[in-house]
Amino acid sequence: MDYHPVVERLYFDANATVPPLPQVVEVVSSAMREVWGNPTSTHGEGQRARFLIEEARRSLAENLGVASAELIFCASATEALHLLIRGLRPALGDEPASAFPGEHSACLNPLKDWTRLSWLPVADAGTRTVAQMAANNETGIIYDMPQVPGAIRLRDCAQAWGKVAVDLSSCDSAVFSGHKIGGPRGSALLWMRSGLPWTPVLEGPQERRRRGGTEDLPAILGLAEAARHLPERLEAHARLHALRDAFEAEVLAWDAGWEVVGRLAERLPNTSCLIFRGRSGEALHMALDLDGFAVSTGSACHSGATKPSHALTTLGYSEAEARSALRISFLPDATEDQVSRLVDALRKILAR
Ligand code: PLP
Repeated sequence: MDYHPVVERLYFDANATVPPLPQVVEVVSSAMREVWGNPTSTHGEGQRARFLIEEARRSLAENLGVASAELIFCASATEALHLLIRGLRPALGDEPASAFPGEHSACLNPLKDWTRLSWLPVADAGTRTVAQMAANNETGIIYDMPQVPGAIRLRDCAQAWGKVAVDLSSCDSAVFSGHKIGGPRGSALLWMRSGLPWTPVLEGPQERRRRGGTEDLPAILGLAEAARHLPERLEAHARLHALRDAFEAEVLAWDAGWEVVGRLAERLPNTSCLIFRGRSGEALHMALDLDGFAVSTGSACHSGATKPSHALTTLGYSEAEARSALRISFLPDATEDQVSRLVDALRKILAR
């Protein structure tokens, strides 16, 4: 279906998802055609599928610098965070835990049934679990992993992966999402250092009894293929700093009341979260969409009601300021020409 048949579309919502790499589409479609055996089956078809899954696991483990037995294939980072946190709950859920308040809901939701949760930077005495995302999806701000002695450190790398280097030496478990790096939707990774007090949530023989359900071989092979292209992806993102900074400087020059969230902080090079005080982020988003530009607001739509983003209110922004936010997130191959077209469209819309 084509929503805007006469308007050429430009996509500036890379933190929501990115298009799959052509090489990934190839790998996924050929796996769907040719390797449809069930990897749990003991016949040749099944064993070929099993072999390819283990090859993909080895390649991803090498890429991340971890042991392949520590990686579990999942269908999304949301699932991986739920399996991780719910699986630690029996051992640690009643002990003090601490989380960054701007975590994605995929992390905050499974933490809801933990009984003694404090919010970073506070970590109560005896804290046994700490959750801190590597980079925030809305602001792009990059966070160090707090080192709380004796605590198990959980890291959501869904946004950082492929945009900046991720360091797993400072944490004990991490999640990664395939569709944010040009891999297929339905592909993700849960990494856990061996020896964590974790019990499986989805029972079944697959993934060494850690995540039941027949493996999605095309998605897994597509994920491994996308990860092979991470060096180019990181290089392309490094180039975005200058483009993004020039975009922000231009927009900020239009009105002294507008602001870039975390402008002085270390941020993902593709992300710009702008507060257009006095304007509606939702209205700007809709006007840009009609003009052919896909961007995102700093709000999440829950059952029809638009709630201001907690990622912004926890940084101290008011609800009104959070509702005035727009998130622009560049694809790795964004060009100066595309950005200047966005700037022109935004300038016209803001002048209305
Ligand atoms: N964590 C962060 C920081 C995200 O930005 C997202 C998706 O936007 C997720 C988790 C969830 O990822 P997935 O779409 O793979 O469930």
